[in-house]
Amino acid sequence: MNQTVICPGSFDPVTLGHLDIITRASRMFDKVLVAVLVNSSKRPTFSTEERIELLREATKELPNVEIVSFEGLLAEYCKKSGIGTIVKGLRAVSDFEYEFQMAIANKKLNPQLETIFLTADADSTFLSSSMVREICSMGGDIGNFVPACVHDRIVRKLCQS
Ligand code: ADP
Repeated sequence: MNQTVICPGSFDPVTLGHLDIITRASRMFDKVLVAVLVNSSKRPTFSTEERIELLREATKELPNVEIVSFEGLLAEYCKKSGIGTIVKGLRAVSDFEYEFQMAIANKKLNPQLETIFLTADADSTFLSSSMVREICSMGGDIGNFVPACVHDRIVRKLCQS
């Protein structure tokens, strides 16, 4: 079966934790759509275009990964695009409750939609985009937290803001 899955998120900015989940999903499925959430009520640090560009650069070695953006309900986007599987990373018990609720809500909205969870890599269970933003804006080294090929762009942007 030719299976396309979707990895949704804010990716503000992409971290090594995100890249780990995307890479593992790309080995398990035929195609992975990485979907950047455009949330007009929130003001992300990186614009939608910047988040997409950073993800494209970070995943350029993965031929079956495509970066897209979406606005509104993920369940609707999946229905329109004919996607039946969401892949998400689970870092800790703290992620679980929210993700569990989201998975059930998405299934109520779109009964064809399944959510699969991959456990975070042991080295990135603590890692989030907000942590990267905070450490970097205070002058800390984020070399171990973001993909090397986009490190300098992320630092430049976070130094400006
Ligand atoms: P955050 O802003 O918390 O970093 P996102 O909304 O961008 O998260 O996350 C998108 C997806 O990536 C979610 O499924 C989330 O659980 C997963 N994810 C985020 N950080 C990590 C990590 N360090 N390890 C594994 N999965 C992660």
